[in-house]
Amino acid sequence: MRVRSFSARVVLNSKAEPTLEVCVNGHCSSPPSGTSRGSREVKPWPDAEDTLSSVKEAARFASSFLKDLGDVDPLSAERELYEKVEELGGNTVLAISTALYKAAAAEEGIPLHEYLSKLFSLEPRIPPPLENVIGGGKHGGGSDIQEFLLFPKEGENPEDWIFTLSEVYRELKNVLGSADPTFTGSLTLESAWVTSLPTERILSLLRKVADEHGLGMGVDVAASDMYREGAYHWEKEGIVRDREAQMDYIEELANTYELDYIEDPLHEDDVEGFQELQKRVKGKIVGDDLFVTQAERLVPGVGGVIIKYNQVGAIFRAVEAVKRARELGMWVVPSHRSGETEDPFLSHFAVAVGGDLFKAGAAGIRIVKLNEVLRIYSSLRRRE
Ligand code: PEP
Ligand code: MG
Repeated sequence: MRVRSFSARVVLNSKAEPTLEVCVNGHCSSPPSGTSRGSREVKPWPDAEDTLSSVKEAARFASSFLKDLGDVDPLSAERELYEKVEELGGNTVLAISTALYKAAAAEEGIPLHEYLSKLFSLEPRIPPPLENVIGGGKHGGGSDIQEFLLFPKEGENPEDWIFTLSEVYRELKNVLGSADPTFTGSLTLESAWVTSLPTERILSLLRKVADEHGLGMGVDVAASDMYREGAYHWEKEGIVRDREAQMDYIEELANTYELDYIEDPLHEDDVEGFQELQKRVKGKIVGDDLFVTQAERLVPGVGGVIIKYNQVGAIFRAVEAVKRARELGMWVVPSHRSGETEDPFLSHFAVAVGGDLFKAGAAGIRIVKLNEVLRIYSSLRRRE
């Protein structure tokens, strides 16, 4: 493809933090940022201390890189940038490479998801959304568990999936309003409802709602954020659990509330714990901070992997993790970050890799990703 025009600037993400927007031939990209980040993620920017200066520097770098490109193969450009990921930061690499992928798809006259699935020889499909409806932990809010999640278990129609979940999300406002006298309608960073109800009360309310609508149910414990000095601190509930107690409690929750999906139930270094828990529960144990989207960190015996391309700093590296996960028979769950942008690249990526679920939130800026899935679905239907 040919770079005919480009620009790079600092814009804001949903946490009002600076992030980089790069546009190539009028196609713009801007990467997200996490809050509960794994310690082995690549750093997003060259300098973690001063984000604004760092993103300004990244914008200058992007302009100088694109200025000399002319005719370019986006994958080769991403590989070249990735060699300097430590110096540049993963988000600098991704802002440039995802804008190039978008421009290349447009030049070929095909949708971005189709371009990506062909480029990386993937099997595309529209994944069911996995929506964070009640939240806490580092994302703000009343519960120790970071995310309480719902997803469709039945049907094949993405419109039905998304509109059912949106109805349930709105219904939960009333459910929590009746059950929690302190409920104010406030939201976490990911626009999930905030409640001061204890964990098990939330799970029993959600179980009822999930059963009424035929939904699957799960949690992201984000346990690395609870873990210090060898124990898990459930601060809101005033309980400290050692490793065994944490595993027993997760097993108990999984059985009692029939959890289909349990993300990061243990801290990011306890790979054997993830494998052991997977033997003890029926639902999928899924690694986020544990695997940080790095193919070489994946192990057998864990149910699934979260795929966040900015944990690893390049699309081709995230695809390596997807392919390794498939070899190991794991669920592949492409995911947004708590600090999101208007960029719908992730929706195309999730379709291109044929995710088993697509973790993209329920409301607020999260609708950028959901609406893009709706657009992809209707354009595929028109082509049938
Ligand atoms: C997560 O832990 O799954 C998540 C989306 O959080 P963050 O983006 O803050 O890492
Ligand atoms: Mg997580």
